[in-house]
Amino acid sequence: MSVSRKQPPAPVVQGPAPTRTSVDVVIVGAGFAGLSAAERLVSRGCSVLVLEGRDRVGGRSLTGEVAGIPVDFGATWVARRHTAVRELADRVGCETIPQYAAGRQVAIMGGRRYTYKHTIPTPSPIALLDIARMQLAMESLMRTVDVDAAWTSKDAARLDSMSFGEWLERKRPHRSTRALMTLVSKVQWGCLPAEVSLLHVLRYTKAAGGLDHMLDVEGGQQQDRLRETTQEITMRLAERLGDRVVVGAPVRSITQHDTGVTVATDSLEVEARYAIVTAAPEHRADIAFSPALPARAEGLNRTWRMGALSKAFAAYETPFWREGGLSGEALTDTGPVFITFDVSPEAGPGILMVFCDPTVFDGFTVAERRDRVIPQLVDLYGERARRPLDYADHCWGTDEFAPGGPNAAVGPYATTAYGSALLEPHGRIHWAGTEAAGEWAGSMNGAVLTGWRAAEAVHGRLVETTDRVVEASMR
Ligand SMILES: Cc1cc2nc3c(=O)[nH]c(=O)nc-3n(C[C@H](O)[C@H](O)[C@H](O)COP(=O)(O)OP(=O)(O)OC[C@H]3O[C@@H](n4cnc5c(N)ncnc54)[C@H](O)[C@@H]3O)c2cc1C
Repeated sequence: MSVSRKQPPAPVVQGPAPTRTSVDVVIVGAGFAGLSAAERLVSRGCSVLVLEGRDRVGGRSLTGEVAGIPVDFGATWVARRHTAVRELADRVGCETIPQYAAGRQVAIMGGRRYTYKHTIPTPSPIALLDIARMQLAMESLMRTVDVDAAWTSKDAARLDSMSFGEWLERKRPHRSTRALMTLVSKVQWGCLPAEVSLLHVLRYTKAAGGLDHMLDVEGGQQQDRLRETTQEITMRLAERLGDRVVVGAPVRSITQHDTGVTVATDSLEVEARYAIVTAAPEHRADIAFSPALPARAEGLNRTWRMGALSKAFAAYETPFWREGGLSGEALTDTGPVFITFDVSPEAGPGILMVFCDPTVFDGFTVAERRDRVIPQLVDLYGERARRPLDYADHCWGTDEFAPGGPNAAVGPYATTAYGSALLEPHGRIHWAGTEAAGEWAGSMNGAVLTGWRAAEAVHGRLVETTDRVVEASMR
């Protein structure tokens, strides 16, 4: 069942397709949410068609290659508690392996290089106390936040009226706390703390199981990665769905009428009873909806902008940092590199996965980007990092179609003003996608859960209308 990484999964239709077709449910987007929704509906006996704008499935999961080894350009890790995506991986024959974490981490913060153990760098007892103080403050606020409907939380208006950055500054953080929270913001929301609402940060962090679970490797969100790559899960799922998945088919319009919806791409018109849209809110704004979306949904699409994050990979003959007792995990507050992890295969070269700040990375050529990354790896891991066997990178913020990621960088006021539109169907159109998840929002697991939820909701409506038609015909 394994699909070669060099080719798209065989049964997926590419190129000319029938101009008109009709199904029970049309699904927009072939990421984790869309493919999970499709699989669930097919298992309920419904006919579906998944339309994907990119020329591949997987969405924010993408397999790249460095030194001939497949690597995750997008989503990488699954937690033990990410049971939905684990179950899916298992079902399609993909395996998880633990994230390498033996040894000490390296930090270069405030101009000083030091090593540390555990998740949080601890340059001094004062810094450690200050991070604990901030964590306690966040946890106390998180208790008031409803992850399923953050906009209804007791203190939602106040928490949404300020950025995470403003809140941090009011707490007068130690400089190492400020630096750490900036790194957290860059990697989770793809933006600076000043650009994301405090309410959104609290909702997301609580949905990720709390700050410790969100940041930890062992027992946390970085616990495991896929032996194959995360996109492989979606490729195998698409393979099972066969010609129900069409790639290279950006949806341009969705028109609702009395009995269904008409969904149009440049070369295909699909009649369906219902639609499930899994595109992230920002990307829904490129679809012409008729009748127009309610003002709140329009507001959501305008204000829930995607953040941006870039990843680089450097491959070496061996994971040489392990010899020096280092785990390959590092944090640095200089740029563009800000986090590294060891994603070496079980046998073969040593590979460092490097998170890069797009603002000082994406605007350069690949050769220039490499020349910015490697010296920072030398600072972190020594001279042996100077000459990698191979280098590769991916800038999510500059993707041609549906750019951005890992997640929406939701600014102040946008959750209380428009958050409820994440869940409200618009007539025959239901919404899914990781942004709409409660628990595990922002992860592949959250995406799968929303796909299943939307599929069940639409299936319920299909059954209900079929029953009504049958009853009417018997009267
Ligand atoms: C760099 C990076 C690192 C990440 N790390 C992790 C991680 O370690 N663990 C984790 O769990 N998650 C991680 N994530 C987040 C994870 O990738 C997402 O939460 C998840 O993949 C979202 O799935 P989705 O189906 O909701 O959305 P998407 O994957 O975005 O799928 C939506 C699909 O809709 C398509 N689309 C948009 N508009 C249209 C249109 N008009 N017509 C047709 N198709 C359209 C898009 O092309 C896309 O394929 C990471 C993401 C990135 C970018």
